Amino acid sequence: MNLLTDDFISTNYGKVSLKAILTTDNDYQLQYYFDEIQLAMLQMLSSLATVVLQPDTKQLQYYLANGISGQEYDKRLSEVNSEWFEGDCFMCSAPPADAKNPSAPITKMLSGIECGTSPNAIGLFSEVKHAETICPDCSHVLNYNLHMNIKGECFGPTGATGIRGGGAISTLVAGDDLKQTVLNNVIATDLFTQYSQLDSGADNKPMWVSPLSSDLYQAQKIGLIRGLFALAYHISFPVDDKECHCDVCGTESEQSVTTFIREKYKGNYGSTKTGRDAGAGWWPHPYTPQSVREDGVYAVCARDQNWQSWQELTSYIVGKETDKAMIEPAYIVRQYQEMSGQGRANLLVGGNIADQGSILGRVYDLYSMPSSLSNHLSRVTQVVDAGLSQKDKLSLALNKMFGIGYDKNFVAGIKAQAMHRFVSNTQQIIQSILLDVDRKEAAELRRAAIKELDEEAKLIYSGLQRKYQHDLPLFKALVKGEYLLNKN
Ligand SMILES: [Zn+2]
Repeated sequence: MNLLTDDFISTNYGKVSLKAILTTDNDYQLQYYFDEIQLAMLQMLSSLATVVLQPDTKQLQYYLANGISGQEYDKRLSEVNSEWFEGDCFMCSAPPADAKNPSAPITKMLSGIECGTSPNAIGLFSEVKHAETICPDCSHVLNYNLHMNIKGECFGPTGATGIRGGGAISTLVAGDDLKQTVLNNVIATDLFTQYSQLDSGADNKPMWVSPLSSDLYQAQKIGLIRGLFALAYHISFPVDDKECHCDVCGTESEQSVTTFIREKYKGNYGSTKTGRDAGAGWWPHPYTPQSVREDGVYAVCARDQNWQSWQELTSYIVGKETDKAMIEPAYIVRQYQEMSGQGRANLLVGGNIADQGSILGRVYDLYSMPSSLSNHLSRVTQVVDAGLSQKDKLSLALNKMFGIGYDKNFVAGIKAQAMHRFVSNTQQIIQSILLDVDRKEAAELRRAAIKELDEEAKLIYSGLQRKYQHDLPLFKALVKGEYLLNKN
């Protein structure tokens, strides 16, 4: 099986190849049981398409506008080392001779499903028995997801931190169909070269062809293709000649995989403290927004359980300066703005919310916006700012409850619950208001946002008042705080 030519991608048309997705007009939809795997698949397919096409900006614009013919695909393919993308070697490097090679059940590869024994490793959802056996095709996307999206700590003491830092947020540009989405996230080599400032002699061979050595993995020496599939583990997936029904894609397979064997690489990327302190530098992964601070560059991560992506939307599209950091959009968003064609752009924001060894939540949000984002940025910013300001007002109003001498934790619990409700309900409100961003004037949009968010905050607030109407001190505090909600 070769990832650049063979059918391994699970869709509504059965298993298909990358070539079929890119060169035909079928409306393919990915079919995987877990949204996390869908997201990883989009990242992986766009990265594989980058390997095949390696377009400059002009070529990519051409592909986006006209599509790619089967012939063109084959021609481009003949110019790359497709043998590097054979299923039996893809993202699997040989471990050193003295490696311990611990084996673990495949369940462990699906973050969120607990199967560790460490007390701080808690899975969020799903039953272990829901993911015990997979088909060999799916081992590649699980492997990719592990290397790019899963935080080392969630993997326990044998966990390693990959080139993106683990637990990073991904932003992708979604299109009208799978083909367009994959193409939207293909990386234009000339633009990326300008942006990334890698050494001109940076190694572009995948790490399973020329493995990492040394203790420090200098970012500037890692070329685009090498970085897109950067490794943190020597890993392998023993295949059994035993029929299975795959727990990840749902198809029947003649072979099955139930375990994997891994050994982490010993050195460090600039995504770790050790690597950062030693000057390894941050490798500019194209799908990761970054936070530039005084002491180095970090991947932007989802923050806590109550976090919703709208709060950071502005920084994912335009960037944002805070007192501690400068948040910069992912390269792919910049590329999109630079090249933007017609139609709507949909920004897909995804990732895990991890805390130490635990996965606390998931982010998988789609924002629909016009492609000419740059003309509308201030409108997006205004809508998000209206949400943030309403959130502040609600928080201030609720703070009145702290002045009545009740147990702090009790009051904090009431407040946290109300804030959580506001932030998560606002997620939908903002997503729906942004749908109109190219049809409505900025002032009108802002008014609409303020009105809806105001109603939402008041609804939550009056709900609390009703709930505590018989608890006089609390009720009075809430009445006292009410004017703060109405303040402009
Ligand atoms: Zn499968």
